[in-house]
Formats: sequence, C-alpha cells, structure tokens
Amino acid sequence: MVINLENLFNNDGEILEVNTELDFSENEVSGVKPFVSPVKVKGNFVNNTGIVSIKAVAEFMYSAPCDRCATQVERKMTVPIEHFFAVSLNNDNNDDYILVEDMRLDFDELIYSDVYLSLPTKFLCKEDCKGLCSICGKNLNIAPCDCKKPMDSRWAVLSQLLEDDDE
Ligand SMILES: [Zn+2]
Ligand SMILES: [Zn+2]
Repeated sequence: MVINLENLFNNDGEILEVNTELDFSENEVSGVKPFVSPVKVKGNFVNNTGIVSIKAVAEFMYSAPCDRCATQVERKMTVPIEHFFAVSLNNDNNDDYILVEDMRLDFDELIYSDVYLSLPTKFLCKEDCKGLCSICGKNLNIAPCDCKKPMDSRWAVLSQLLEDDDE
C-alpha cells in the first residue's frame, strides 16, 4: 500500500488517520510463515509545524516454534511505529528522518521493517523453557528424563550444590 503524503507535507496541522490491516502471511522468518493474522495498524500521521511524523501501533498474532523446545507458540505482539519524514535531507538529520522524496510512502515496507526489527532474537514458549534433552529428545518442560549428561567434574560439584538447593 502506497500512502500519498502530499497533502500532509503541504498543510501545517494536517492529520491523516491510519486504521488498516496489512497481510504479511507470505513473509517468512527463519523458515516459517509466522504472521497468522493480519497486521492491524492504527494511529496518525501529523504535520506539526511543518514536521511530518507518524505515531501508530501495529498489532498481530505471531505463531512460531519455540527456539528451545520446538513447541508451536502463538503470541500477540504489539509494535510501536514512530517515525519522522522528510522530502530532502541535510547532513544533520539523516538518521532521524525517513526520506520520501516524491511524498509517496511504501507503507507495507515501513511497517514490515519495524515489525521485523522488533522480533525477539530468541522466541521462547516461556522465559525459562528447559528445552529438549540433547540425548533422548524429550521435552523437559513436560517431564525430566533419566539421561545422565556427561559432565566436567568441576561443574559436577556446582551442579550438585544447585540441585540440593532446589529441594
Ligand atoms: Zn520452549
Ligand atoms: Zn533425555
């Protein structure tokens, strides 16, 4: 979706409301297609004393396997969308502004890059996911297994102490 920002750039005080749904269902992240719901974007573009900006929120359901135990997890994600736009850049503001020379903004691209950058580097079913046993492959969140892991003797002492602590 391309948004024409001409009216916005030309009129101080102008507001352009955004309330739309984008379809990223074909976009792949780490080999899966995690965007199982439309990405709802709600907010406003504004021209405030000649400065054009957007303040919005993107909301969607994200479904992907846990990076540790491979259980499929579906989670609601909320991503803030906040940018300033300019039709030309001087050297001082290059980093702060998104350049839209022809006042036409590729909205999907903008939202997708914000959404993509907000994704966690490790997607876990829960923060303390125990993962799978490296020997028998059992999901250790469900039940512990009886595998004896080979262990360096120095760590064995520490591990013993930690286990005692648990009881
Ligand atoms: Zn997990
Ligand atoms: Zn095991």
